[in-house]
Amino acid sequence: MPFRGPVMVVVAWVCVMLFVQTVTAAPARSRLAVLQVAALPPGVPAPAPAQVIRGEMDADFVPSASTHTPNAMESQRWYRLTLDRDWHESSSPVLSFTGAAYIPITVYAPPAYRPYELWFAQTGPPARFSRHHLALELPHDLRAGQPVYVRIAADNFTRQIRADVTDMATYQSQDLNHVRLVTLLSSVQFTMLLAALCLWLVLRDRVLLYFFGYTGLLWLAQLLMSGEAYELPGGWLLVPLGPHALWLLIVLGAPLQFSFIIEFCHLRSVTPGAARVLGYMRWPFLGIALLLCFPFAERMNLPASAHNWWFSISLLWALGAVILAVVRGGQPARIFLIAWLPQVLLNILRLGQVLLKLDLPSWLEYGLPTAMAFCAVVLTIGLADLSLRTRRERDMAHHLADHDALTGVLNRRALVRRLHEAETQARAQHQPLALIFLDMDHFKSVNDRYGHQTGDACLRVVAEAIADELRPPDSLGRYGGEEFVAVLPGTTQRHAMAVAERIRHSIETLPVHARGHTLQTTVSIGVASLLGPADTVDELIARADAALYRAKMQGRNNVVADASLTAVAS
Ligand code: GH3
Ligand code: MG
Ligand code: MG
Repeated sequence: MPFRGPVMVVVAWVCVMLFVQTVTAAPARSRLAVLQVAALPPGVPAPAPAQVIRGEMDADFVPSASTHTPNAMESQRWYRLTLDRDWHESSSPVLSFTGAAYIPITVYAPPAYRPYELWFAQTGPPARFSRHHLALELPHDLRAGQPVYVRIAADNFTRQIRADVTDMATYQSQDLNHVRLVTLLSSVQFTMLLAALCLWLVLRDRVLLYFFGYTGLLWLAQLLMSGEAYELPGGWLLVPLGPHALWLLIVLGAPLQFSFIIEFCHLRSVTPGAARVLGYMRWPFLGIALLLCFPFAERMNLPASAHNWWFSISLLWALGAVILAVVRGGQPARIFLIAWLPQVLLNILRLGQVLLKLDLPSWLEYGLPTAMAFCAVVLTIGLADLSLRTRRERDMAHHLADHDALTGVLNRRALVRRLHEAETQARAQHQPLALIFLDMDHFKSVNDRYGHQTGDACLRVVAEAIADELRPPDSLGRYGGEEFVAVLPGTTQRHAMAVAERIRHSIETLPVHARGHTLQTTVSIGVASLLGPADTVDELIARADAALYRAKMQGRNNVVADASLTAVAS
């Protein structure tokens, strides 16, 4: 593939700008009031909400050094959040929870301490914030030490959820930046999806379908992860599925991605062994998708861990296979590696961040979708180029099937087919049809004297000279060794004789330069025309051939008309 330098530069530039925007989007916070977190220790028996909000458990809450409020496997967790000083900001405080996707959180806030459910996968009254974090507006007059109680539901694995208090103005401006960025990245991917779909509609290439399938599933998964999918029309249908919908998309996207890699990088021909193993590695993902249907498996967090493990192993294998393909000179594999590597690296970092229970920095949070958008853009360009090449090869194969490799004019089979078409058309439109049969004179002696390669060059020059004398509807073909036939639709015998004479004259005066020799050659020509309704293509050729024979008999380098018409000697 000719490397599209300028496009890559633009894409890289867009990515850099996005990062700059991300980094600069987070303003320095000047927090007046600091959030203090106290947790109910795991040993304390789970209290009723009424007990907690009446303050009966206040003595049991143990202050925590960090604002992280982890959930726990198997049991819910209670937290008591307070401010270290009264709220004096001009806008209300917003309590937000980061990293709490798909974990139900109940907040009991003053003054009424009514339960307020925060749940990622919900549709309800018009949302005031994006689903970047789970957020709730607290009373504007929140005082120091006035408790907000929070209950975090149990989940299959322990996660670090971070509680924050920000003023409404700051929170909303950050939230808007988040929405802008997510929308931009999502649109890029969606556009590439449409491009791949359009390409597939035209070219019907399977690799485009794989690309469409895997990028489409990952795009939907990202929409779900950002929570925005629930706001789309019909998004409520996904609510009962909870995180299952997300896992299903991720698990089914993986085998499609590996199918795409195998096809796009031509792994089956470049690294057949590795491709075969990668092919087998796709199947367990279907089993993992089935596991999602069993509640017991889910309680043990089986589908997620099975997917993470199997995906990591398959990913490393695929990476190795692609690198091997690059080493063996696979051009598409190189393109794929360039497109894919940033995504793989960021995926590994994200996995590390989750496993080490670290905070998600914004460069990593937005870096991953940026890398995915970058990958989609580069791969779509690669796919378009690949399709173009396939198409060119197909066109070339078609051309070679119909054309003579030496002279570039039609071969005998295509010529006869063209002649049949011309005959049908001539009869339907009551138009004349003429045929010119040419044979080079004493060509054997050209070969004998100058060699076959000079003879070949001579054939090419003569074919070109004949073609120069013809009009667009005419066809020229190589009938045999040094014999050419021209089909002239809509041309009378008289006119065809004139054309033949022009050809004869032009070749006679044509100096042929070939392999250091300059030689002169001549042709003999027979001309015939389509006669009454009983006439056939075979008879037309035979009559032109007979006329050519007579031209040879009459001394060569001349034009002879079919005997059934008036002969015109040159
Ligand atoms: P005539 O004037 O009677 O047509 O004499 P000629 O020598 O042209 O006739 P003949 O049919 O005896 O010889 C045709 C020669 O054309 C024989 C063959 O070596 C040569 N020939 C046929 N195809 C090719 C080709 O593809 N390349 C070259 N260099 N020569 C070819
Ligand atoms: Mg000849
Ligand atoms: Mg011949």
